[in-house]
Amino acid sequence: MKRLFDKKESGSNKERKTRQDESLARMVKLGYKKSARLKAILGQNKINPKNIKTREELEKLPVTSREKLVEIEMQQPPYAGLENPVMPIDRIFTSPGPVYEPHLSENDYLWARAFFAAGIGPKDIALNAFSYHLVAAGLTFHNGLRKVGATVIPSGTSSSQIQVQLIKDLKVTAYVGTPSFLMVIITKAKEMGFDFRKDFRLKRACFAAEPLFPDMRRSFENDYGIDTYQMYGATEVGDVAYECSQKNGWHICEETIVEIVDPSTGKNVAPGQLGEIVVTRLNEIFFLLRFGTGDLSRIITDKCPCGRTSYRLAGISGRIGDAVKVRGLFIAPSQLKLIQSKFNNLPLQAVVNRQGHEDILKIIIEKIAPEIGSAQWEQSFKNIFKEICTVKVDQVEYVDKGKIKPDEKMIVDQRQW
Ligand SMILES: [Zn+2]
Repeated sequence: MKRLFDKKESGSNKERKTRQDESLARMVKLGYKKSARLKAILGQNKINPKNIKTREELEKLPVTSREKLVEIEMQQPPYAGLENPVMPIDRIFTSPGPVYEPHLSENDYLWARAFFAAGIGPKDIALNAFSYHLVAAGLTFHNGLRKVGATVIPSGTSSSQIQVQLIKDLKVTAYVGTPSFLMVIITKAKEMGFDFRKDFRLKRACFAAEPLFPDMRRSFENDYGIDTYQMYGATEVGDVAYECSQKNGWHICEETIVEIVDPSTGKNVAPGQLGEIVVTRLNEIFFLLRFGTGDLSRIITDKCPCGRTSYRLAGISGRIGDAVKVRGLFIAPSQLKLIQSKFNNLPLQAVVNRQGHEDILKIIIEKIAPEIGSAQWEQSFKNIFKEICTVKVDQVEYVDKGKIKPDEKMIVDQRQW
């Protein structure tokens, strides 16, 4: 059996970079000719299109956020002049804003890599519970499922009762949709008197559009025997990253360039540091370079045992507005939650202050167990904190149990600007 979707996935980093740089140079050259907007952006930034030949040179261009895309599409409807007017567009999707997106070609591999990595193939009957109405999700996931050979039931947003009926009658083996909707479907099945493990054949689920919380994942896998996979993308740029069987980070799609940038400067952060996910989809239809997703993540560069050589995103750590920068590095509430989960849901709070020109990071910790506060405990806490947040803890303050109120912010920024 084929282990990877194609040879690109196991190519060397050098091969990948050469291929992507060549596509990027082609995209910029073509975009300069065809897209009035890209030509204007390059002009405003005094950039010769010939000087954007590598991913490093992309950094010269501004990041375009969703808000900015809405604004420029309103100025110049429907695509802000970012499109290639001579390429046939087979579908037009919308997303809230409104934003209008010409769909990439039918031949694009959208989501197929993700489904392949999740083990979905020609033997599968997949229930696609994403909306097929106006938005991109339903049809693009459908195409990806077809690319790996699965039979698709376009159930869309039908009621949970209908979904249960379909899963049962058509012997569905895989689910594609949000995790919360699958939980609703499972609950409905129980209400209808079914035993999900015994009465159904659903063994895999691919999720997108919502976070998959660890306890929910455990429940799907342990209680219902469903192997779960996360996928990540955005309507504006298509699929971006996907989980493999190792479930330790999301492999970046071969057709996209992902940068992790400091949202205040638009410049790349050092590998491993937290920043905003900025995506460039290599294509010849829609010249949206450096789309700022507003999501925070960091890159994992370690080799993955699955055989794919692409770098991975370490999940989503929140939105850029939630993060606070300490000594030039972002920390996000979700990272603190991860630390809590490693210490028995330890109540804690981060306080950022300033002494002179130095940021000081203090962690307030509730003493919920006797060992908390010993030198050994504190060292192990600090080590794990550094590992997850990449920022060093300067001070630790211990308080009595119940001192940190549940409605308090996890990260308090007391610096005066
Ligand atoms: Zn992998």
